[in-house]
Parts: sequence; C-alpha cells; structure tokens
Amino acid sequence: MRNGFENIEHWVFDLDDTLYSPEISLFDEIKVLMTRYVQTALNITEAEANTLRKHYWEKYGTTLAGLMAEHDLAPDPFLKYVHEISLDALTPDVELNNIISALDGRAIVYTNGSEHHARRVTTARGLHDCFSGFYGVEHANYVPKPQKAAFEAIFELANITPKNGIIFEDDPRNLVEPHLMGMQTVLVGPRVEASYIDHQTTDLTGFLRNISSNTNG
Ligand SMILES: [Mg+2]
Repeated sequence: MRNGFENIEHWVFDLDDTLYSPEISLFDEIKVLMTRYVQTALNITEAEANTLRKHYWEKYGTTLAGLMAEHDLAPDPFLKYVHEISLDALTPDVELNNIISALDGRAIVYTNGSEHHARRVTTARGLHDCFSGFYGVEHANYVPKPQKAAFEAIFELANITPKNGIIFEDDPRNLVEPHLMGMQTVLVGPRVEASYIDHQTTDLTGFLRNISSNTNG
C-alpha cells in the first residue's frame, strides 16, 4: 500500500463510469451500439453478437481489440459508431471541476474510448477545462487498457512519470499495470480486495477533497 500524495504530479482519470456515476448507465448505451455493430459487421444474430462483445471484452480488454485481432476490423468506424450516444443524462459538476482544477500538477483523461468521446463527455460534465490532455485508445495504436503497452504509450505521449502519478479507474483490471509501474492506484467503485489497489472510493469528489485538505493544510 502506497500512501501520501505530496509527490503526485500526474493525475490520470479514466472516463466512463469514473468521471460520472455508473448509475447514469451511459456505458450501457455504448454496449448496445457495440452489439449492433458486431451483429452487422460479422452478420450474426443479436444474441451471438452480445456474447461475442462480452467475450472480447474479457479476453482482450475491449470489444474493439477482439474485433481487430480476430476479424481484422478497422477501428475508426467502430469507435465513431459506438460513441454516437445522447449525453442528455450528464450534468455539469462544478465542485468536481473546482477540485480537479486545484490539484497540484497536471490532470489528464485516458479512456479506452476515443478522444472525441472524452471531449464530449467532459464538456457535458463541465470538466473540459480542468484537464491538460485527452487520450483515447487511438493514441496507443488501438492497444487498450489493461495491456501494459497501452499504458506505456500513453504515459510516454503525455510525459507522465508513473512514480509521480496516480490513476483513477472503475475497472480494477486497469490498475494492475500502473501499480507495477510504480503509480498509485485508486479504484472508483465497489470494494475489491487486491494488492494492486492502493485506495478505494465510491465518491471521487470526496476522495479528492480529502487529498487537497491533507496536502495543503
Ligand atoms: Mg471506465
């Protein structure tokens, strides 16, 4: 377990189900579109497509990675299609914006979705201006989290030193490699016991507020 946030200069935030509540179920809409895309692209039934979508997510980290590996599918049309969702359910979060903006160092968003999706969602949440960078799966040559090569690519691109960084994620799998690279890890979501998880919270805003008050005063 690593503690202390004084050395943290790089704040890395996942997007979906991390920077908004999973109760909004936005990602469920994306899953529906993914299933539809798989169904059409591979000419299979909806039930088969749904099974395959989940299977690829488990085996490769994302559905897209499975489609690319096993069917040689082009990534960009898929990414464009599955992110065409309504963001009406998202509301601006002024407090979270203030807290992230006030963090010492640089904050970025890193998602297995696309940069476009990251910019849309953070704009809808009123969080657009507190991040210095938005990174999607396309910036890691379409290699997704949780693969080590994905983190290495993004951290290099964003000039992030893992030992001076912390990462916030709702998917525990995506904390394994960052932990091995020396980063502090925060699971945002229901409790999971694992050696690679340094901190856990279901309240991102509250967690960041505590860090700020502990390191500043
Ligand atoms: Mg997520």
